[in-house]
Amino acid sequence: MIPIHPVSDAGAAQQPASATSGDTVGLWLKPGKISLPASPPLSLYVHIPWCVRKCPYCDFNSHAAPSPLPQAGEGPGERAVSAATARAGWQIPEDAYLDALRADLEQSLPLVWGRPVHTVFIGGGTPSLLSAAGMDRLLSDIRAMLPLDPGAEITMEANPGTFEAERFASYRASGINRLSIGIQSFNDTHLEALGRIHGGTEARAAIEIALRHFDNVNLDLMYALPRQTLAQCQQDVETALSYRTSHLSLYQLTLEPNTMFARFPPALPDDDTAYDMQQWIEARTAEQGFRHYETSAYAQPHREARHNLNYWRFGDYLGIGAGAHGKLSFAHRVLRQMRYKHPATYIEQALAGKPVQEEHDVSAADLPFEFMLNALRLTDGVPAGLFADHTGLPLHTIGRELARATEKGLLEPDPTVIRPTELGRRFLNDLQGMFLKD
Ligand code: SF4
Repeated sequence: MIPIHPVSDAGAAQQPASATSGDTVGLWLKPGKISLPASPPLSLYVHIPWCVRKCPYCDFNSHAAPSPLPQAGEGPGERAVSAATARAGWQIPEDAYLDALRADLEQSLPLVWGRPVHTVFIGGGTPSLLSAAGMDRLLSDIRAMLPLDPGAEITMEANPGTFEAERFASYRASGINRLSIGIQSFNDTHLEALGRIHGGTEARAAIEIALRHFDNVNLDLMYALPRQTLAQCQQDVETALSYRTSHLSLYQLTLEPNTMFARFPPALPDDDTAYDMQQWIEARTAEQGFRHYETSAYAQPHREARHNLNYWRFGDYLGIGAGAHGKLSFAHRVLRQMRYKHPATYIEQALAGKPVQEEHDVSAADLPFEFMLNALRLTDGVPAGLFADHTGLPLHTIGRELARATEKGLLEPDPTVIRPTELGRRFLNDLQGMFLKD
């Protein structure tokens, strides 16, 4: 923890004028309604915005890589793109993007001077579209500019459709020490329904290759897939468990706005079936030694995703890359940033020293909900003192809401922690909503 009081102005009550990252001194000196005792831990997120093609359920900032391949939804027969064909077809402007990331990081440095970075997450999109040399350059740039903690967790997302054994050995040699693989399912029919370019055989091969090089591997799986039965869900999860990876992320498929699935909804299992799947997953993963420590995350002992834990504990993160979001704390303000979303615009703007499209101070009225939205996802919750440490507001700011949630049986009646009960986890949206400002 690094003290962040360049000036002592805890009593100041005026709302800050909009401060920009170009005015770094202003960010430090301006008074505000909150007062943080120290900087929260800092993480780095790097966004790689391309995929071989866009999946119909995906609402991430991902763009189909320039390619002669047909895109999802273009017509009959378009789906049968083998991963090998797909690999041959894409090409991304890697050098220009890496230049832009470097420029982005450089112009961001004054906002995080002297703060050690505890975790790095290279996400997307499909980061495994980067060449081994490109990933090595990215990590070298990060190391050269930021004080990485010697034991930093450095995660990269990968898709089975872009897997190559030598490339993954190289990623490991470059310093990636945790791999998160977007498996989604091992069932070819469901993978096809999800518009994925890999099949079950490739998913299995990907995990086997990963485990040769990494001892810390997460598998992303989804359940309640189009026309999926409980038995099919069980088979997917059993296959994932058989690899004995350190971490599993198990998400229920939801239809997000502005996706192909929102426009043309597939037939999904009903709520009761989805609930049965969830219950079975919890019981089975527990039998196999996994702890369900967050809404969708399951870890072997001491293998929780440290990067994501920092988000859920309302830590800080610098986000670089197209469309990346960031949250950075100062003595009297919490700043949120978003980079330009489209890769070409981002490259242009980052190289011109202006990668940030939008930034604002989180108002003191919004901070409690933002904090609770994250913290309540954790099975263990957070120490009660973390609220004041990471929002700069006294805990009594949410005293009434905490008391009401506890009365309703949604929070544990322990004043030293903020922890959801089993009922609270089940009705998480309702519990989080209790901390929305009126
Ligand atoms: S591979 Fe992942 S990030 Fe890319 S489009 Fe599909 S779901 Fe989205």
